[in-house]
Amino acid sequence: MKVLLVFAHPEPRSLNGALRDVAIKELEAHGHEVRVSDLYADGWKSEVDRADFPWLAPDDRFVAGAASKKAFETNALTEDVKAEIEKLLWADMLILQFPLWWFTMPAILKGWVDRVFAYGFAYGVGEHSDKRWGDRYGEGTLVGKRAMLIVTAGGWEEHYAPRGINGPIDDLLFPINHGILYYPGYEVLPPFVTYRVDRLDEAGFQSAVERLRARMRTIETTPPIPYRQQNGGGYLIPSMQLRAELGDPETTGFALHLNGAGKDG
Ligand code: FAD
Repeated sequence: MKVLLVFAHPEPRSLNGALRDVAIKELEAHGHEVRVSDLYADGWKSEVDRADFPWLAPDDRFVAGAASKKAFETNALTEDVKAEIEKLLWADMLILQFPLWWFTMPAILKGWVDRVFAYGFAYGVGEHSDKRWGDRYGEGTLVGKRAMLIVTAGGWEEHYAPRGINGPIDDLLFPINHGILYYPGYEVLPPFVTYRVDRLDEAGFQSAVERLRARMRTIETTPPIPYRQQNGGGYLIPSMQLRAELGDPETTGFALHLNGAGKDG
């Protein structure tokens, strides 16, 4: 497989840097081809602003979505964004790697998504009408490709368990896995998460390395998270509510959007 690893850590000698090298080595040892976007090292510009659309007239009001749409349609995105889109189209698999900062990805990575997932490329794709709400959530430009997260967290695994105070890790990562990756079509593998990393001893590090190597060996076969497809008939249009006959009435929130969540499962 062709793998794009987008790396969001400012220090190459960090735990994340070490895990990245482990992942790349294991993938390459199994015949995969790996490219890396190292956002801090590349000086990635993370904020969306007028500078992304230099063709806007000075008195044009800046509307981010409309500008993104026009730039994508006219091949007028900036060169750094075009290069990332080209890598996404090249890759069969996307890995986003980051330390959990304030319960989500570092701003630089969010800014990569904001700028690279352009209108017409990652959203605003397909027919939008009273019969169809676009190609998204299981359909879209990136359909047929896989994606997964590699995440390190300072908190304990128990703190991210179903009754843990931080909230379940699958809920915290849902906006990334479902909202960013599944939305434009990726099949999303369960995340690789390493907990309690700030005082990791050598044994803990080796254990994380072995778990990561095992995950890298199975990227082609690991079953994806079974999110429901938007256009699979389960959702009403245009309200986008899950049909009443699907899902357990007691299940609410993110878990409802998993196939097999409740009475249909
Ligand atoms: P490093 O600091 O580089 O390393 C961590 C430890 O790993 C080291 O001390 C060392 O013992 C070991 N190590 C590193 N490299 C090696 C190696 N090559 N071999 C052996 N051992 C090694 N945590 C949460 O759970 N939730 C949050 O919301 C959250 N928010 C945060 C917000 C901010 C702004 C910051 C700075 C931290 C936050 N954290 C949070 C903690 C954060 O997730 C961890 O600090 C981060 O994941 C650690 O990853 P790192 O690569 O920076 O580790």
